[in-house]
Amino acid sequence: MKYSEIMVRYGELSTKGKNRKMFIMQLAENVRRALVDFPLVKIHADRDRMHLLLNGEDSQLVMPKLQKIFGIQNFSPSIRVEKDVEVLKQTVQEIMQSIYTGKETFKITAKRSDHDFVLDSGELNVALGNAVFDLFPAIQVQMKHPDINLRVEIRRDGAYLSYETLLGAGGLPVGTAGRGMLMLSGGIDSPVAGYFAMKRGVEIEAVHFASPPYTSEQALQKAKDLTSKLAPYVGSIQFIEVPFTEIQEEIKRRVPQGYWMTITRRMMLRLTDMIRDMRNGLIIINGESLGQVASQTLQSMVAINEVTTTPVIRPVATMDKLEIIEVAQAIDTFELAIQPFEDCCTIFAPPQPKTRPQLEKVLQYEQRLDLEGLLARSLAGLKVSEIRAESEQVNFEFDDLL
Ligand code: ATP
Ligand code: MG
Repeated sequence: MKYSEIMVRYGELSTKGKNRKMFIMQLAENVRRALVDFPLVKIHADRDRMHLLLNGEDSQLVMPKLQKIFGIQNFSPSIRVEKDVEVLKQTVQEIMQSIYTGKETFKITAKRSDHDFVLDSGELNVALGNAVFDLFPAIQVQMKHPDINLRVEIRRDGAYLSYETLLGAGGLPVGTAGRGMLMLSGGIDSPVAGYFAMKRGVEIEAVHFASPPYTSEQALQKAKDLTSKLAPYVGSIQFIEVPFTEIQEEIKRRVPQGYWMTITRRMMLRLTDMIRDMRNGLIIINGESLGQVASQTLQSMVAINEVTTTPVIRPVATMDKLEIIEVAQAIDTFELAIQPFEDCCTIFAPPQPKTRPQLEKVLQYEQRLDLEGLLARSLAGLKVSEIRAESEQVNFEFDDLL
């Protein structure tokens, strides 16, 4: 059966009152971006539904793309036929012939938005139900939980039939909540954190700290590959590589070991916050999870977070590692994340980081560093690239963007 359109049902955005229009427009834009490779598809977004007219594009290729777009609750591919009772009966029979195996219960759900049509929805239910009985006299009707729910909608431009509903990604359309900077390492947790932030409508940019030659080209590539796993949810993501070598060397040279980690994290957070400001972001997102490692005790978080008042969202903070891994597997970032390339934190990890760093000491040790110069030199070396869903990458220097 050839589908002519996909009917999309909105998720939570339907409860958003005045913002509804903005949400729907953003969703339509996200759908358009996700379907750039299907130029014939026409998007009609109205208050309650979105209709994607396929115009000959292959529904089997379009539907997997839709499944990654946040803000879509579910969708049904449908067949469009002429608004003619005989044609409808025949189409219903054809559909049932192709899906009924002799066991399923069924129901017809007719709806008429074109009130000039000869039959009303009740009459249509009966007429089309009878067409099914003519074909399969023993078939059972089940009103509450039918195995097959054959929906028929009579609209101005034609009659639409559908019988399957696929689950969407839920959440809110990406972009409706504004922009945030995701601190993306090469680990398991931060990609999951980014996924959850996007799911609540946040447009993310990935900020990654690299310390060549201590960290390898592969470690950098791994962070980019993780970003490309997140890109299908939005089309593309800006990846910002931050040079971190000089800062780590300076910390190692001038700060006692126990405080390397705390001060390293503070420098990361400062830089991320400055980049956020330059790129009009509102918040910072990271993959910290309570208690996992020394930097993630409550005392550490307090000492690290002290450098900024910008909200730092930690989507996986209260999740167990196994719960995080489950999500990482579902979004296909797990296998990549467990590849063993050292990142800047593992290489400079002190043998015994303080799990209860004292803020006065932190401030005292930071005075030994030329904070301003270090931050400025790092920011001068940012490299921004756009990571597309298909992982083709366009590189350009940062200056082009300002
Ligand atoms: P992950 O699994 O995301 O690497 P983790 O459990 O290994 O997290 P840490 O290494 O302590 O924890 O890092 C905590 C968070 O700090 C990371 O989730 C990430 O948001 C941020 N972070 C750590 N290293 C980097 C890096 N090289 N670039 C960008 N962000 C980083
Ligand atoms: Mg890590």
